[in-house]
Amino acid sequence: MIRTNSHYGKLQASYLFSEIAKRVRAFEAGNTDRRLIRMGIGDVTEPLPPSTRAAFHAAVDEMGTRGGFRGYGPEQGYPFLREAIAAHEYGARGCNIAADEVFVSDGSKCDSANIQEIFAADTTIAIPDPVYPVYLDTNVMAGRTGAYANGRYDGVVYLDCTPENGYVPALPDQPVDLIYLCFPNNPTGAVADRASLEKWVAFARESGALILYDAAYAAFIRDDSLPRSIYEIEGARECAIEFRSFSKNAGFTGVRCAFTVVPKELQGTGPDGKPVSLHALWNRRHTTKFNGVAYPVQRAAAAIYTPEGSAEVKALTDFYMKNARRLRESLTQWGRACVGGDNAPYIWIQVEGRSWDFFDRLLNEAGVVCTPGAGFGKCGEGHVRLSAFNSPENVEEALERMAPVFAG
Ligand code: PLP
Repeated sequence: MIRTNSHYGKLQASYLFSEIAKRVRAFEAGNTDRRLIRMGIGDVTEPLPPSTRAAFHAAVDEMGTRGGFRGYGPEQGYPFLREAIAAHEYGARGCNIAADEVFVSDGSKCDSANIQEIFAADTTIAIPDPVYPVYLDTNVMAGRTGAYANGRYDGVVYLDCTPENGYVPALPDQPVDLIYLCFPNNPTGAVADRASLEKWVAFARESGALILYDAAYAAFIRDDSLPRSIYEIEGARECAIEFRSFSKNAGFTGVRCAFTVVPKELQGTGPDGKPVSLHALWNRRHTTKFNGVAYPVQRAAAAIYTPEGSAEVKALTDFYMKNARRLRESLTQWGRACVGGDNAPYIWIQVEGRSWDFFDRLLNEAGVVCTPGAGFGKCGEGHVRLSAFNSPENVEEALERMAPVFAG
């Protein structure tokens, strides 16, 4: 029989959201008369913005004509989208990113999962705790960690995000090669200010580490003093790769489009000790293993950079941020210590006891689904996450139902 990748055996059996789904199913089976309000998974709820729909339709129609039909496109993305991204996401904010440094893909999940493939197997990784689980699990699958014990994998340098550090981790106290950072953060909703990012960039440049910066929630930043991109920090072109997504700003979780920026300055070391361009490696990986995002999807994505499209995206993110503010205000009134909700669509709340017990309480007593912090790492224990991706009506009803649990 075929031998399997033994590293998969180290993965923790239950993926967070499958366990939540199991508990929710059990609750629903015993409570057929109660309507659940789901504030767990970070999926968007609102329809696609009109400009993206119109561009999507028009591109499908174009593909139905002999002159407009397109087969395989450039794996890295069509120039019209790469150029629009470089100009609007970066040029407009004073960052120097060229269109050919932008790699369009079908999701930041895949990109942040696949990127580790271009680095050596014995790379030391630094990963925040709590964390978006993809960064960690994909390194486990690749054999970059030891066994799992007491909530942690051997060989990983964990960056603790705690109430004491405002959920923005301190620099590692040992050498690392690869550093995963995500701001605005999932799951905590915490943001890093310019001074914190400057420290990370300085550390990476001095030590020769590479930062993988996930800015999937950049469009939710409302405080203009906060950087939306790592490239707003001087020197980041020499030490950082950035992931961005159309999932949360344009509601594309079901459409699928994202991009990764790999500046040409970035260098690694080859087996002979000579420098190797990371841009060239990622280009090789991307073109070998990926065949490009559908043309109509790229047209739909590019529509968010038109004046109408950008106003629609602003309105869409404002819609969710209004929910986030309501949640945060109420939790604060109830005396709960929490972060997020001001520049991110997530609120991270300290709770008494174990987070899975609190999850069960909120489910049983309020009929509201949250995400237990322990599912995101050891430091997530004692916290739950609420997502603002919902309708205002649901948020109001959830607040009413949750008040006795949170305020009690
Ligand atoms: N990065 C973070 C931090 C996320 O929270 C998510 C989705 O929830 C993703 C990436 C995935 O984005 P995409 O839908 O582009 O795969």
